[in-house]
Amino acid sequence: MKIYNTLSKQKEGFRPLNAGKVSMYICGPTVYDRIHIGNLRAYLIPDVLRKFLEYSSFEVRQIKNITDVGHLMEDNVAQGDTGEDKIEKKALAEKKTPAEIAGFYENYFHETEKALNILPAHFFPRATAHIPQMLKIIQILIDKGFAYEKNGNVFFDVTKFADYGKLSGNTLENLKVGARLEEHPDKKNPWDFALWLKAPKEHIMKWDSPWSVGYPGWHIECSAMSMEYLGDTIDIHTGGEDNIFPHHEAEIAQSESATGQKFVNYWLHIRHLLVDGEKMAKSKGNFYFLEDIEAKGYSPMELRLAILSSHYRSQMNFTWAVMEQAKTNFQKISEFVYNLKNIPISSEKDSLGNEVSKYTEKFEKAMDDDLNTPLALSVLYEMITETNKLIAENKLDTKQAKNILAVWEKMNKVFGFVIEAKQDIPEEIIKIAEERKTFRNNKDFEKSDKLRDKILEKGYAIEDLKNNEYLIKKQ
Ligand code: AMP
Ligand code: ZN
Repeated sequence: MKIYNTLSKQKEGFRPLNAGKVSMYICGPTVYDRIHIGNLRAYLIPDVLRKFLEYSSFEVRQIKNITDVGHLMEDNVAQGDTGEDKIEKKALAEKKTPAEIAGFYENYFHETEKALNILPAHFFPRATAHIPQMLKIIQILIDKGFAYEKNGNVFFDVTKFADYGKLSGNTLENLKVGARLEEHPDKKNPWDFALWLKAPKEHIMKWDSPWSVGYPGWHIECSAMSMEYLGDTIDIHTGGEDNIFPHHEAEIAQSESATGQKFVNYWLHIRHLLVDGEKMAKSKGNFYFLEDIEAKGYSPMELRLAILSSHYRSQMNFTWAVMEQAKTNFQKISEFVYNLKNIPISSEKDSLGNEVSKYTEKFEKAMDDDLNTPLALSVLYEMITETNKLIAENKLDTKQAKNILAVWEKMNKVFGFVIEAKQDIPEEIIKIAEERKTFRNNKDFEKSDKLRDKILEKGYAIEDLKNNEYLIKKQ
């Protein structure tokens, strides 16, 4: 399998550190608000990557952090040195404790992931439960001369890490010609980033440390939790494209300085989801959550399909037309599965032969090429079109239907669609249909038509196939 590595800026053949095993860290949510459909794209892609790796017989271990402290708000959020804590701000606004806010939105996050059939990570570590691990790394960085303390604040000195900028291209040289940052008075260089900050009196979430009663910078939590659960070097680290700089650049600098080891072998970044061609913003009214999608009559599975219909390395433009298309396609997939499961029992016919393996091959080729989900879906649609043609011509026999169903089920281990089993056809309807068949055999079409209408009245349609077979569908 090939995946695009942001570090090397090219597609690379994937080789895990330990044969057959894959360690994957996913930058998870800051639980101060509901996750939106953009976040969902950033969580769905690693889910499909995991499912495809498992399909390819790898054993995957996924860690997804819960940021329940920090993640500051001002423009230099990213540098993590001034500004308010998002969770605390919300807690004050809603007159709740930070833990209540974080708990509520963490729960919302899990429920939303579940609705989209995103497999739970093997563990969801919370930042607030890993302060000792963060303190340990910060101390190592100070001892090794990569970090310095001033007035209770600790910063990482970016000039000490020669590789700074290797992920994002933001080397110190390039940064110097760019926008100036508001400087923190305790920093040596404007691009130094905070590892630990002394808490102002009004700050609610704070911990003891050798330097001050304070709280951690945002970046250090991911390094600490990744190393704690997956080791100093891991296979894959994912996030949205906005995480490349400074978050992931900072993670590399502090982790590799602390351990002397490479932090991550493959960096995978998901480009942003836009709405009507624009960045989502609450002020523009184009900020959508799963409930907004459902309120317009679309299901979480249709959203899953819509997201997989674009490649993760292109921006996705979310529009209602895209959702409508996903609805049509999801219906097509559901009908296909239903029809295959309900194909009338029949003897062998002139059908696809052993050709079904061609779909599996094409599907795997698409997914092997940097998770090309839109191409993989087009293979599925091709299989559906060809199967439907055979059904219409009454050329599909039971054995063949089973083969195609098996191919679908294999593919769907990766797509992860949950297809609601259509209600079984009630006994009563089958009885009428059988009666009707007898009338048709006797060429008593008047009576058989009456029974067809009776079935229709009860909400079912009957489709006659060749050889006196039929298919019943719920209307
Ligand atoms: P946050 O809670 O803001 O840290 O975001 C959680 C994850 O969602 C991060 O990996 C972000 O990069 C990602 N993300 C945020 N906005 C979008 C978006 N519009 N499209 C795709 N991913 C996003
Ligand atoms: Zn992170």
